[in-house]
Amino acid sequence: MSDLQIAKGVSLKHISTIAEKFGIDSDEIEMFGKYKAKLPLKAINRTKAQNSNLILVSAISPTPAGEGKTTMSIGLSEGLNRLGKKTTVVLREPSLGPVFGIKGGATGGGYSQVLPMEDINLHFTGDFAAIEKAHNLLSAVIDNNIQSKTNSVRLDPRTIGWKRVMDMNDRSLRHIIVGLGGTTSGVPRETGFDITAASEIMAILCLAESLSDLKKRLGNIFVGYTFDKKPIYAKDLKAEGAMAALLKDAIKPNLVQTIEGNPAIIHGGPFANIAQGTNSVIATLMGMSHSDYTVTEAGFGFDLGAEKFFDIKCQSAGLTPKAVVLTTTIRALKYHGGADLKTLTEPNVEALKKGLPNLEKHLENIAKFKVIPVISINKFVSDTDEEIAVIKELANSKGIRVAVANVWAKGGEGAEELAKAVIDIVESNDSNFAPLYNWKSSVKDKIVTIATEIYGAEYVDYTAKAKADLRKISDLGLDRLPVCIAKTQKSLSDNPKLLGRPKDFIITVREIEIAVGAGFLIPITGNIMRMPGLPAHPASEGMDINDDGEITGLF
Ligand code: ADP
Ligand code: MG
Repeated sequence: MSDLQIAKGVSLKHISTIAEKFGIDSDEIEMFGKYKAKLPLKAINRTKAQNSNLILVSAISPTPAGEGKTTMSIGLSEGLNRLGKKTTVVLREPSLGPVFGIKGGATGGGYSQVLPMEDINLHFTGDFAAIEKAHNLLSAVIDNNIQSKTNSVRLDPRTIGWKRVMDMNDRSLRHIIVGLGGTTSGVPRETGFDITAASEIMAILCLAESLSDLKKRLGNIFVGYTFDKKPIYAKDLKAEGAMAALLKDAIKPNLVQTIEGNPAIIHGGPFANIAQGTNSVIATLMGMSHSDYTVTEAGFGFDLGAEKFFDIKCQSAGLTPKAVVLTTTIRALKYHGGADLKTLTEPNVEALKKGLPNLEKHLENIAKFKVIPVISINKFVSDTDEEIAVIKELANSKGIRVAVANVWAKGGEGAEELAKAVIDIVESNDSNFAPLYNWKSSVKDKIVTIATEIYGAEYVDYTAKAKADLRKISDLGLDRLPVCIAKTQKSLSDNPKLLGRPKDFIITVREIEIAVGAGFLIPITGNIMRMPGLPAHPASEGMDINDDGEITGLF
């Protein structure tokens, strides 16, 4: 059965029932139909949130075989609820572009899903649209300011990095020229579109802790320089008030339900390669305010998403994670061990063993944050007992907990072993979260710490452009911001072809972008795509809707 067929077989509870289960009166929620609602910010209770156990779900380095972090997060939260721990899963919102491309939805899979999956995957409660509008409002204000004779800060158009955004995979919008058509239609300049998930506004929304904090961060967006080299921020264009107004509903987290009728919060969807890659701080705090356990996911492998989760999100919002679930699949490890993608469903203990160093490196990395991990083997039907034994042996030899999680086929029931391991970690109270670096260190120190300690690089090289960016950052007084390194997710290094556990490599920083609004710097390594394209046969070709409004082909 497809994910959509499984989802359709579930009889959903009214969202007011879920809200009450979650401890929020149905009068206080804003309903979007029967199964979705926005939660009020006043339902966040910092004191209560401090007593909730925050569990991070991460993974080994991603492969085309798929690892299943979202599926694992949902299944684990069902498992914890089964064991009597009041648990909420807090996830990111899917981006429309990838839904129609190759990735498909982002609502889990099999018997571990959040519902209604069609709605969550298509528009949901309109948060992405609001972010897009707020972003494009600033774009329009910038071009208008360049055009105006009476209200101009004299921005040098060649220094403007702020583009436009749209939530679609549309490579033909990457590079465009605006302002054509003569004097009444603007000043021609080169710009382009990014996908909405890559917008700094998305990153801002996900780190903001209140409406006033949101507005302040919007005002701090760096726009460019005047002809006299004076830096211009969004607040200099008086844009932040209107932008915040456009986001008044988008800032509120969305409540939905899991297949087993437990609460799930889905909010925000920043890219995990150029931004922090986790759901909003507000959503996490909301989940924590109303549950004993809060399960959340960080995008891509531990080196990318989890490092940023710990060093940026947890530090910024004062969160203390209690355990890490490291999602691992036999298939992915075989791929890291050199097996061909087409042969991953065949037993291959040799390739699996060769792939283990990738898992080992991620375990070493988790230890650097002093949080206790559990290896969660995401069970696929093709896994053999012999292969599972190899991973268990490795875990046992290192004294690390390990559990087989059959959440895709069995939902919460398949997660009980994992849930018990997580409870064991939390109750033993051995985690002692500490970030990897101090925000106050120099930008270069921060980059080199992550590159050598987490990626395993020998050293860091900077291009001439990156060196100029370092000087610019220093001139603007922004050295104290944390770094959100943009790197391929496919490898621990910055070269996507180096699988397993690469050694003897250097990391090259090509440039460093400034996201003052979000509150971080983005050192860019390798080629990072901010506006993806569609594959030759996009997933959209298989989608349809009938006269009764039933959707098919959304997996
Ligand atoms: P991630 O969050 O790591 O990107 P997802 O949880 O979204 O991964 O899963 C990616 C895809 O893999 C989904 O389509 C999901 O249904 C599928 N999947 C995950 N786990 C399993 C499994 N154990 N067996 C089969 N398919 C799975
Ligand atoms: Mg996911």
